[in-house]
Amino acid sequence: MTNQEYIDEIERMKREKNAIILGHYYQTGDIQDLADFTGDSLALAQKAEQNDADIILFAGVKFMAETAKILAPRKKVLLPDMNAGCSLADSCKEEDFKKFIKDNPGRTVITYVNTTAEIKALSDICCTSSNSIQIVNSLPEEEKIIFAPDRNLGNHVINNTGRDIVVWNGSCHVHEEFSLEAILNLKDKNPQAKVIVHPECELPVRMIADFIGSTTALIKFTRKDNGNCYIVATEPGVIHQMKKKNPEKEYIPAPPKDSTCGCSECNFMKMITIEKIYNCLKNEKPEIFIDKNIIKEARKPIKRMIEISNKLGL
Ligand code: SF4
Repeated sequence: MTNQEYIDEIERMKREKNAIILGHYYQTGDIQDLADFTGDSLALAQKAEQNDADIILFAGVKFMAETAKILAPRKKVLLPDMNAGCSLADSCKEEDFKKFIKDNPGRTVITYVNTTAEIKALSDICCTSSNSIQIVNSLPEEEKIIFAPDRNLGNHVINNTGRDIVVWNGSCHVHEEFSLEAILNLKDKNPQAKVIVHPECELPVRMIADFIGSTTALIKFTRKDNGNCYIVATEPGVIHQMKKKNPEKEYIPAPPKDSTCGCSECNFMKMITIEKIYNCLKNEKPEIFIDKNIIKEARKPIKRMIEISNKLGL
């Protein structure tokens, strides 16, 4: 079958099965265009909760599909490839995190949504890169916090809130791979370019940024800013949305440290393909299953995040 034939069949099955596709900004452009709704982790979690579909097919990675299942436990949630994991979520294992909480008693546990369902079940509030600073600021000033699993986002939150926060030492292999030297070289060649950076990047890269923000914030920035050229330090899938909104501007993906690979794509995100989406929707598997008790506990911190975000209009 051709790509277009797969797409036509997926559209037909979506109508027949009352299914929707939620697609993350780090998916390939054709999948983002096929999705009923495209967004970052926060927007996709909000959308998973508010829709009338019987089936949610998640074009993203496993922790995102799990979040959808936790928020909509009666729906069938499908993930086209169960190997689509996340190095950041993998850097925080349940037993180690339980010990970390025990070693740092009396702290509110805030975890980034890039965690397994079991880690969410140990948390008080979840956050995403879109709302982490606001979630922390919504707590009383004297409240002490554990932040996990991303050390770079955690340090970014400390710098912007001044709160007493203990940070778990995890990271995302994609966002830690950007080369400061290569970005500075690019900037020399394109002095008009603005460097826009995701907060999961390391401090030296954040320090040279003209703007730091979540994927959604970066897209909005390029839309509203009066510049015409950007060096983009996050997964290059977002450039698809930037180009759609402002095709006349130039977007240069920030290069990784490993010069043998010219791109900084997330290998997990890119495991999802149009053909796998077709097979997944046709066979209604692989399907996400989570223990009922884990769903009950993991739901609380996600709901708290959504409530705070909705209240703040995020
Ligand atoms: S880009 Fe990083 S944080 Fe996002 S899914 Fe890939 S490995 Fe995980």
